[in-house]
Amino acid sequence: MKIHLNQIPDEGLHVEGTDPSKILDLHEHGVEPVSDVQYSLDVGLSEGGLFATGEVGVDLDLECVGCLEHFRYPLRVPEFACQIELTGSEMVDLTEPIREDILLALPPHPHCDWNGERVCQGVAFRAKSEAADAPLTEKPDAWGALDQLKLK
Ligand SMILES: [Zn+2]
Repeated sequence: MKIHLNQIPDEGLHVEGTDPSKILDLHEHGVEPVSDVQYSLDVGLSEGGLFATGEVGVDLDLECVGCLEHFRYPLRVPEFACQIELTGSEMVDLTEPIREDILLALPPHPHCDWNGERVCQGVAFRAKSEAADAPLTEKPDAWGALDQLKLK
């Protein structure tokens, strides 16, 4: 998203629109954008810099870490804010700060039951199988070796 400095009046400018989701350059497994990147920003100029505040977001298709099912997740960054130093160019590109903030807002462990609308079948299933596995957990070999040393 590029802004021409001449387009920004003294009182600031409100810009809304979309950018193709390919600006996100996402390569993470189980993360697929299913909408354009949306932005709704107030842009203004202050001493030597351009600042932008507002909301950015994108709808994603994520893979649940619990059940591996895909689900829709409307990612929003409601308090997006950035300040860019002016370098003499008449165009200021906000693509990179928008991209960074969206990547930072990606849920590290996406769960399909994030909004309570559905129950993740995987979590209940996994909790059971983990409990069943627990008694089988053995001490790491290093400890066994230490025990033997102490006996000598
Ligand atoms: Zn799930």
